[in-house]
Amino acid sequence: IIHWAPFAKNYKKKVPWVQLAGHQGNFKAGEQGTILKKTNNIEKEVLIKLMRDVLRPYVPEFRKEVFKNDESYLVLQDLLIGFESPSVMDCKMGVRTFLEDELEEARKKPKLRKDLYQKMIDVDPNAPTEEERKVGGICKPRYMTWREELSSSASLGFRIEGIKKAGEKPNKDFKTTRCKENLCEKFRQFINNDGSIKVKYLQRLKAIRGVLESSPFFRTHEVIGSSLLFVHDSQGNVNVWMIDFAKTIRVEDGIRLTHRATWQEGNHEDGYLFGLDNMISIWSDV
Ligand code: ATP
Ligand code: MG
Ligand code: MG
Repeated sequence: IIHWAPFAKNYKKKVPWVQLAGHQGNFKAGEQGTILKKTNNIEKEVLIKLMRDVLRPYVPEFRKEVFKNDESYLVLQDLLIGFESPSVMDCKMGVRTFLEDELEEARKKPKLRKDLYQKMIDVDPNAPTEEERKVGGICKPRYMTWREELSSSASLGFRIEGIKKAGEKPNKDFKTTRCKENLCEKFRQFINNDGSIKVKYLQRLKAIRGVLESSPFFRTHEVIGSSLLFVHDSQGNVNVWMIDFAKTIRVEDGIRLTHRATWQEGNHEDGYLFGLDNMISIWSDV
């Protein structure tokens, strides 16, 4: 039996919507403390399962799908409700940001992307190989791997995607933030060096880790491209949630993931807990 906690429980007032990743068109304002995210069927099935898992308190509440102008949307709890002028940070978890399936697909049908090539040289004109320069395109896993190595994903198992501090514009300029010291400094700036916020974030992250380690869902799913969303305000409200499950895939029967072991193609390990361990250690140093 599912008991729906009313979304409006903590409802204070309407908070301006902050979106730190994804296409603008993927989201719409919803009613009564909800937001609408364009349906992805994988994400929908995952959310349904999560609503019955021990992880439920750590993900946005999902209750139904709605249809608007020929589009379907997932009705999700707006995580910013209850915050007064929130500061928000999106950290993408894991050592890898593409699915093993995507790798296989790219190998079978390599698709050269000019747009990704352009994005690459915008950041580092020296990054493409001679071959890539000749054809003026790269395939998606190549682009993703490059981003993982440029940032802290590959080495530490997570990266900062974006930060929006109260009263400031969103900042997504973290593509090359890689070392522990720099991440620690970004975290410190994000909370304006406020020790009480740090303590609350650490408590919540450790709680999430504990529940992840005991979750039947998590043991059996490769979790790629998912984020932890950090939200706090000057009133002492602090919280972290898991979001974005469009690339969260059930592994074959019998496989149990550690989320800490090194990824080798075929083992489906994503490095999620490896990243969370590192993140907790870095927050401790803030
Ligand atoms: P991408 O896959 O490119 O990361 P996406 O379209 O799958 O993007 P999400 O990553 O789920 O979208 O969300 C994008 C941003 O929207 C998040 O970084 C966060 O700022 C905001 N957001 C998402 N879900 C919620 C929510 N339930 N409540 C409040 N904010 C949210
Ligand atoms: Mg995302
Ligand atoms: Mg996504």
